[in-house]
Amino acid sequence: MKIGGFQPFSLSDFPDCVSAIVFTQGCNFRCPFCHNPSLVLPELFLPPIPEETIFTFLNERKNKLDGIVITGGEPTIQSDLIEFVKKIKELGYKVKLDTNGSNPEVVEKLIKHNLINYFALDIKAPWHKYAHLTGVETDIEAIKKTLMILLHSSIPCDFRLTYAKPLLNDEDIQEVQSYLPPNRSLTIQKFIQKNVLNPTLFI
Ligand code: SF4
Repeated sequence: MKIGGFQPFSLSDFPDCVSAIVFTQGCNFRCPFCHNPSLVLPELFLPPIPEETIFTFLNERKNKLDGIVITGGEPTIQSDLIEFVKKIKELGYKVKLDTNGSNPEVVEKLIKHNLINYFALDIKAPWHKYAHLTGVETDIEAIKKTLMILLHSSIPCDFRLTYAKPLLNDEDIQEVQSYLPPNRSLTIQKFIQKNVLNPTLFI
């Protein structure tokens, strides 16, 4: 696992859990509003944190933490994600995974192996605006597949969208909300225009 950051304590990132956060290094998207460029642009990567450092910490905190959040970057592009999560689960922790939804097969595998307790899916935009809001040609069918997998799973999932004005407007938010059934809500995250990946789009 390429780990670009680690936060040892959080009360707000994993519902009902005291958690630590692992930030994976690397992402297949280039969302202009991304506020983690150092986890996305290879030229900004810091030397990765060794996995052993994380597991030493997790072994020592077994009775103090409930869960681990794996976020990024985009965790599902890491080839050894499943093995990494298995090792965390063996220590007795719950795991939350944040994803951009681009790798439904990985999400499916994680669910099949009963490795995830909580998901968060970041939906970036209405389908017709996806390439603009991700900064890359996006496989929309893959995102739709992940959305369906998570909607049909019994594992809790937050569906989130960052309201990156002026790239998105109120109609866009309504359209994305319409992708969810009436009993599921879209969490709108406030866009903070600070240290973003492509500031020129927000001038
Ligand atoms: S906001 Fe976009 S570019 Fe940044 S980590 Fe998430 S998916 Fe990757």
